[in-house]
Amino acid sequence: MRIAFKAATVITDLLADDAVDDAIVLVEDDRIAWAGPAAAAPGGEYPVVDLGERVLLPGLMDAHVHLAFDAGADPVASMLARDEEARLDGMRLAARQLLDSGVTFARDLGAPYGLSVRIRDEIRAGTTPGPRLMVAGRPLTRPNGHCWFMGNEIDGPGQARAAVAEEVKAGADLVKVMVTGGRMTHGTDPLRFEVSEASLAAIVDEAHRLGVTVAAHAQSTVGVRAAAAAGVDSVEHATFISPEGGDGYDPAVVRDLVSAGTGVCPTLGVAGAHAHPIAFDVRGGWIARLHAAGVPILAGTDSGIPRHPHAGGVVDGLRGLVASGLSVRQALAAATETGMRAAGLEKAGAVKPGYLADLIAVDTDPRSGVDALLDPAFVVAAGRVVKDTVPR
Ligand SMILES: [Zn+2]
Repeated sequence: MRIAFKAATVITDLLADDAVDDAIVLVEDDRIAWAGPAAAAPGGEYPVVDLGERVLLPGLMDAHVHLAFDAGADPVASMLARDEEARLDGMRLAARQLLDSGVTFARDLGAPYGLSVRIRDEIRAGTTPGPRLMVAGRPLTRPNGHCWFMGNEIDGPGQARAAVAEEVKAGADLVKVMVTGGRMTHGTDPLRFEVSEASLAAIVDEAHRLGVTVAAHAQSTVGVRAAAAAGVDSVEHATFISPEGGDGYDPAVVRDLVSAGTGVCPTLGVAGAHAHPIAFDVRGGWIARLHAAGVPILAGTDSGIPRHPHAGGVVDGLRGLVASGLSVRQALAAATETGMRAAGLEKAGAVKPGYLADLIAVDTDPRSGVDALLDPAFVVAAGRVVKDTVPR
């Protein structure tokens, strides 16, 4: 099926800052077939959806979501109180909210057994609206470790290797490992390195042998150091907190990240934080330093945890990146082609022939400010119009 979208401006590549005025994007099935000036559009029969004065651009990525969490005051308790069907309904709602917010690609980095795989497959089959998903299945964690209540608990490299194979067999696209503790799990410590180096090495080796990537939750410098040394594919949070509570940024660790090609998903973005810039001070400077050192930045929010909503949270995350010292265009690149490539999604995040037909339209140009991306009027996912509030 062919369909074309016409807009006053089409931003084809956010990193290169390429855009075409009075442009048409021709989509064939789930791929972009052609993009360029309307006057030069290819002939043939196809419907043209006119988006008027709007700006059309690639759909956005959230590299770190938890569909199973409801972003309320205690998402763990509310998830545990639900039966499986209610959990799945909550996840379908979260997927819809992400999509309506312009997120056309997300990584689910931890859910109870089987649920994220099921939602991913429903979206793929077209029976549930949502972003295209890469899912981690259950997070790997030490016994009673961070997120044990939905995790795959491992003790030692043998179990670690088996757990990777188990999650991949159950349908995971990538593996999530809790390298440090986290604030949401009683009895774990974000400052502590909570899996052994041998287990971490076994996880990375087995995942790569099976053709999947590894996302490592690591908050303190000791955790980021271990994750970087093990050669994981992305470090989540990477807050570089130290036991002294101060700035634990370590250039030697950053060199390890760069040489391993490891990306960082800083999961910035707290709802309402743009009104209180102090919320970003703790980790602000580090993101810009990582970016300047050559570490790929993946835009992501940890949506589902308290004050990190699925609806509109993606813009909070982008505000966080900008408040951390990235330019607006660098932040937008982290949410489109640059970030998607670092997450392992190829030919996505730009408006070019052969690329995935994931598009959003907004009223004003987001290159002048990320707030333009709040509540996009129009969303195309895998070549299908899934949201249309453009007055006609
Ligand atoms: Zn998370």
